[in-house]
Amino acid sequence: MKKMREILEKVFSLLYSRFGPQHWWPGDGELEIIVGAVLTQNTSWRNVERAIWNLKEAGLLDLDSLHKISVEELAKLIRPSGFYRIKAARLKELIKALVDSGGIERFKRMGIQELRGRLLEIDGIGPETADSIALYAFGKPIFVVDAYTRRIFSRLGIFEGSDLSYQEVQRFFMENLDHDVMKFNEYHALLVRLGKTHCTKRDPDCPGCPLKAICSFFKERSLCD
Ligand code: SF4
Repeated sequence: MKKMREILEKVFSLLYSRFGPQHWWPGDGELEIIVGAVLTQNTSWRNVERAIWNLKEAGLLDLDSLHKISVEELAKLIRPSGFYRIKAARLKELIKALVDSGGIERFKRMGIQELRGRLLEIDGIGPETADSIALYAFGKPIFVVDAYTRRIFSRLGIFEGSDLSYQEVQRFFMENLDHDVMKFNEYHALLVRLGKTHCTKRDPDCPGCPLKAICSFFKERSLCD
């Protein structure tokens, strides 16, 4: 396990040295982060920004307004984020849960497991979205797992196969890293950065990757060349 801790720290330090701080989450305040976490499902951040801008322009980016607006009206405003009808329904459910529970401050005071449990009860809120909200909106020490995490750590040779469950992958990081909110924040953001810039699904840019010296995929590929 000590070895795993060292490897995870090495990955972090190589990524941080190359890319620096990522300043996540790109949102202004808890509610904007919560809304962004739902809207970002299956779309680019650029589209999310356009949808959030629409909400701001309409003067609706507050809990009370989002609670009162109809799901149809909300869907129209968040249309740029794609899957807008589904996302509007999800967002309404989430806003209702926040209001019914006594507001954002009440959620903030919840322990991590209670908070996660409440979020996961909401239709369409899966572990990645719930954990993104818990970490980035409420500052809870939880590691967010996504497709980039799985791909990068499989290629590094740390995960064997890619069929580990969300919980298994998350447990791996939680057991091998200090439970530090800022570290979890930066680590996930750096993995997303690497997944977008180098460790892409097809044709990864291994020669320019900061992790190539410790990557099994790169070593095997080099041997074949
Ligand atoms: S060296 Fe290639 S496969 Fe390995 S992490 Fe970097 S981009 Fe991904």
